[in-house]
Amino acid sequence: MSDLRNLIIIGSGPAAWTAAIYAARAKLNPLVLAGEQSGGQLMNTMLVENFPGFPEGILGPELMVNMRKQAIRLGVEVIDKDVTKLTQNSKLKTTNYNLNLKTSNKAEFMAKAVIIATGATANTLKLPGEKRLMGRGVGVCAVCDAPLYKDAERVFVIGGGDSAIEEAMALAKYAKEIIILVRKNKMRATAIMQDHIKQRNNIKIWYNSEALEFLGEKNLEQVKIIKGGKESLCSAKGLFYAIGHTPATKFLVGSGIKVDDNGYIFIKGGE
Ligand code: NDP
Repeated sequence: MSDLRNLIIIGSGPAAWTAAIYAARAKLNPLVLAGEQSGGQLMNTMLVENFPGFPEGILGPELMVNMRKQAIRLGVEVIDKDVTKLTQNSKLKTTNYNLNLKTSNKAEFMAKAVIIATGATANTLKLPGEKRLMGRGVGVCAVCDAPLYKDAERVFVIGGGDSAIEEAMALAKYAKEIIILVRKNKMRATAIMQDHIKQRNNIKIWYNSEALEFLGEKNLEQVKIIKGGKESLCSAKGLFYAIGHTPATKFLVGSGIKVDDNGYIFIKGGE
């Protein structure tokens, strides 16, 4: 027999905890299915300087622990399991109780309402050295971290889309040299974005170039790069991925909730 809940929130990033805090204060008794790796993308971030209320900044994992504690203090129940399946019981469509959820520990829940706040994971290449140096020079959000690279001699960005340019532009205000590694001989970024970088003399583009490995003791020091078929070791303080995101929506297969080709949920009227 499924456990019937008023509101289930799936996820454990800032959106999920915000929803949980508001729902708890509205006395909706929310349950958060936080996932086995609670905390979302901020768990891989070092100093967060753009979240109001922390004049000295706050470490990403600490911020997420605080949000979770705040929700729990307000009475939110949290289960650290992944949702593996969400289905809608069409027979009960006329009632409010038609959402069924299964979790990674085989628990089953019914819910009157579900908030999906599972976010998206930045794509990376899983290169040698990446796991160890993630958050220590290797990152996925230069827009968030750019000020940490003030006066850095060189920072790389991987990608050829608008995000790569946006990341490079954010870094260009701080680092001395930014090099965008584009795997093909052209960028796919929109023309206007490509125009932006022409006005920045500290942004360079290396075409036909890919990163192969990250090296460094405690922090990133060098990136092994193949450029035009030739391998070399290049010193760098930072490297940011801008090669797209994958939304965490696989559990929606078979749910009747429509997603686009990349896995992003269509909102009503958005198709
Ligand atoms: P995109 O999918 O547009 O681009 C991803 C880039 O990553 C591509 O250049 C792709 O290369 C590259 N890439 C993918 N896999 C690899 C790999 N294994 N190795 C090396 N490079 C790889 O994603 P974006 O995040 O840039 O943009 C997503 C959407 O958001 C777009 O519609 C974009 O226009 C929009 N956007 C708009 C902005 C704005 O207007 N200010 C800012 C940021 C994003 P390849 O080209 O070779 O396939």
